[in-house]
Amino acid sequence: MIDTGAVEVFLTDGHRQAADRLGAFCRQELDQVAPESDAQARETARQVLAKLGQGWLATAVPARFARSEMPQDARGLCLVRENLGYSSPLADAVFALQGLGSTPLALAGAPAQQERWLPAVARGEAMAAFAMTEPEAGSDVASMRTSARPEGDSWLLEGHKTFISNAGIADFYVVFAQTDPALGSRGIGAFLVEKSNPGLLFLGPQVMSAPHPLGNIGFEACRAELIAREGFKLGMRTLDALRVSVAAAACGMAARALHEARRHALKRQQFGKPLAEFQLIQQKLAQMAIGLDASRLLTYRAAWLKDQGRERLTSEVAMAKAFATETAQQVIDAAMQVCGGVAMLSDHPVERLYRAVRSLRIYEGTTEIQHLILARELCKDVDPA
Ligand SMILES: Cc1cc2nc3c(=O)[nH]c(=O)nc-3n(C[C@H](O)[C@H](O)[C@H](O)COP(=O)(O)OP(=O)(O)OC[C@H]3O[C@@H](n4cnc5c(N)ncnc54)[C@H](O)[C@@H]3O)c2cc1C
Repeated sequence: MIDTGAVEVFLTDGHRQAADRLGAFCRQELDQVAPESDAQARETARQVLAKLGQGWLATAVPARFARSEMPQDARGLCLVRENLGYSSPLADAVFALQGLGSTPLALAGAPAQQERWLPAVARGEAMAAFAMTEPEAGSDVASMRTSARPEGDSWLLEGHKTFISNAGIADFYVVFAQTDPALGSRGIGAFLVEKSNPGLLFLGPQVMSAPHPLGNIGFEACRAELIAREGFKLGMRTLDALRVSVAAAACGMAARALHEARRHALKRQQFGKPLAEFQLIQQKLAQMAIGLDASRLLTYRAAWLKDQGRERLTSEVAMAKAFATETAQQVIDAAMQVCGGVAMLSDHPVERLYRAVRSLRIYEGTTEIQHLILARELCKDVDPA
């Protein structure tokens, strides 16, 4: 269970009470839920979605569409992801995708699009997906080639998206495509594609080190509805709104690793005493705790500022995402060292975390991209004299 005490100053009583209930729910329903294989990941993701639909998924959509057990603000989003990251990284990914796929609709969708999908997303009855990445367009999103042309009241898409979470199982996809390549990023629109739309193709799964429902999708004269002509901006607004929650998920995974390492160090005896009595092990535990607390402070500071209505949080969010995800990787690696060989056996909690945490440093803007963003902000409006 995560400790809200470390970031108490940023939380309200409502957050704390909801986090306690969520912690109990996660322990009972989701702890260590992880698919054995990639094939199983799709089925497990669907089951987890139904469980999270019991009051927690609504945290990923605005309160006017569904009420959550958790305050529906940035701190609430972080608390959900931290708890899920602690209990089941797959459940965290399922939750995150509901937010990523539905936020463009919440921010800019037509009322009919919102009514059709957002309450169903919150209840776990509709699975969302967000399709931006292409084989030739990763960090350089604006170089995407998927195209959209108007036809009658709708649009037709042509192209290929890769690394798409929930590919093949989502009920709808928010797809980014070029409407006018001459305009560069300003010529990228955002579109809604429902799973039954003619021309939507599932091109097969991509097998991950940590099982996750990832895959390729294609569009052949695929019918789509426009969400927004300024799709690039909408995509970036969506990522800006959710990126701090990636840092929170990293904190949850690191907290679980520290918990497992501490337990193991107290129980395991070598050279006649528990590992926890050796100073080299104590140093590792101490460094893990420092990294975790620093990550949580950066994360909840950014979320709190957002909830105070601060408009520009680019630096705070980039710092939190880069620091918390990199630190979580180090904390989990240290936990594996403290636990020794047993933590390398498949399906040990630390072994699962070791595989699961890796993608957090890559998706929703790599660490390098966060550093570039931060450096750009640092050098803005500075008089070199
Ligand atoms: C588990 C997982 C789930 C994902 N789910 C989705 C999804 O649902 N929808 C979706 O659209 N995408 C998804 N992605 C894709 C993800 O967003 C991309 O992997 C990410 O944007 C990075 O792109 P890339 O992998 O092509 O790496 P590249 O952009 O090719 O980068 C490779 C390396 O070069 C570095 N680099 C790139 N540009 C620069 C630069 N200017 N300066 C310095 N270094 C640079 C990067 O930091 C990285 O280290 C997912 C990825 C993963 C791993």
